[in-house]
Amino acid sequence: MKLDELKLNIDYFEFDNKLYQKLNATPLKNLKLVSFNKEACDLIGLDYEECETQEFLEFMNGEKTLNGSVPYSMVYAGHQFGYFVPQLGDGRAINLGSMNGWHLQTKGSGLTRYSRQGDGRAVLRSSIREYLISEAMFALGIPTTRALAIIDSETFAHREWNQESCAIVLRLSPSWIRIGTFEFFARTKENSQKNLKQLADYVIKQSYPELENEDEKYEKMFYKLVDKTAQLMALWQVYGFQHGVMNTDNFSMAGLTIDYGPYAFMDYFEKNAICNHTDVEGRYSYNNQPFVARWNLFVLINALKKICDEEKLENYMKFYLSIHKKIYLDMMNKRVGLDASKSGDANQFLIIELLGALESSKMDYNVFFYRLTNLKSFDDLSSILDIAVFQDPLRKWFDSYKRACDEQNSSFESRFEIMKKVNPKYILKNYMLQEAIEKADEGDYTLVNELLKIAQNPFDEHEEFERFAQPTPMKFANIKLSCSS
Ligand code: AMP
Ligand code: MG
Ligand code: MG
Repeated sequence: MKLDELKLNIDYFEFDNKLYQKLNATPLKNLKLVSFNKEACDLIGLDYEECETQEFLEFMNGEKTLNGSVPYSMVYAGHQFGYFVPQLGDGRAINLGSMNGWHLQTKGSGLTRYSRQGDGRAVLRSSIREYLISEAMFALGIPTTRALAIIDSETFAHREWNQESCAIVLRLSPSWIRIGTFEFFARTKENSQKNLKQLADYVIKQSYPELENEDEKYEKMFYKLVDKTAQLMALWQVYGFQHGVMNTDNFSMAGLTIDYGPYAFMDYFEKNAICNHTDVEGRYSYNNQPFVARWNLFVLINALKKICDEEKLENYMKFYLSIHKKIYLDMMNKRVGLDASKSGDANQFLIIELLGALESSKMDYNVFFYRLTNLKSFDDLSSILDIAVFQDPLRKWFDSYKRACDEQNSSFESRFEIMKKVNPKYILKNYMLQEAIEKADEGDYTLVNELLKIAQNPFDEHEEFERFAQPTPMKFANIKLSCSS
């Protein structure tokens, strides 16, 4: 379809008009297309050529409104680093409406009623990061929002010590509703119960349509979100992903990864790794993620208690950690080529031992699994041991691993078949993004586009980028990023 043939649907204006703001974007100057994503175009049926037109830039910039679109920003609240903030909202994102169930949103479109002290902008650096990681997550099977395109401009914003160019990402999600949206609706002065029910019905329609005619549908919505969140946390942990800012306003009601900031795919395995420079206490450290998600779900219970049986919700939370653990162990077993269902508890210890060995040997987490996938014999472990800073812990783990493989009659071939589906050759690490960002800052967007291909096809060969399949150079490993974006 042509841009002009897209017809957006708006369904948010059924809510009380205090819960959103209709507004227009504040345009950026001298626009440049950085990249567009064909896979995302397919989601909404947009012709690829359309993305290379001047009109598309104007659309991204909010100067051209699509058929049916009435731009708006949403209000929400949230717990930031554990502290309640009664009013947040889309401070720089503008919703355009939905197409094929994908809700379009431009991020960096200027001031809104919810901008607080912010400038309504997103700089190129953080926009490239969000654009690429969305697609990398999707390719690994980790539930996420998507991104369709990114533009750069000659409008500048102040961040820390620098002037940086402003960018806009067009992002897509089946739902932009957050735990924080419920927190805000629960505290509305009038009609909070009506507002909450309306919001819950909206979420059910968007993300859990099978519940529409069920009894206790709001409780069941919560149970489904608990399941999805447990799964999401398991997948983050399995691939060494750290979100960095798991505030309740950055937590999706649809169980998706949303609002990418100072995230990281861990380089060297480190249980307590912290990727967000601001997170001094490690609230959002790698190892804490499943527990913080559980805390966030309890915040949601508190917001839902006017429309749900609180006790039932709390009771369901008892399953959360066991759901998480099962999915985590199933996947981790696959990452070492084994079948969790065949091994009882034995492989659980094998995985725990592996995590310890990876940490004490200082091993690149995802490279380890890729090299394990391609290991041909236990007699020659050099492809793995040679990239460890300390070899002994891993050598010792291999004794346990070999024993487990023998006991479970597992061959190199059978393990290869399992591992090749879950262990990508490429993971989008921060140092790779940094390189693409530095080039983009000079006006060269080629590496952004190359990384998009790698992000979308992480299991394939990308011969000219063999170096990105190697362990992260030590000087770039597990660095902390700032929240400013
Ligand atoms: P975050 O934790 O980055 O998702 O942001 C927390 C809140 O701050 C959200 O309500 C954002 O919309 C808002 N925010 C972040 N950066 C800006 C900005 N540059 N201008 C306006 N609002 C912002
Ligand atoms: Mg946010
Ligand atoms: Mg620039």
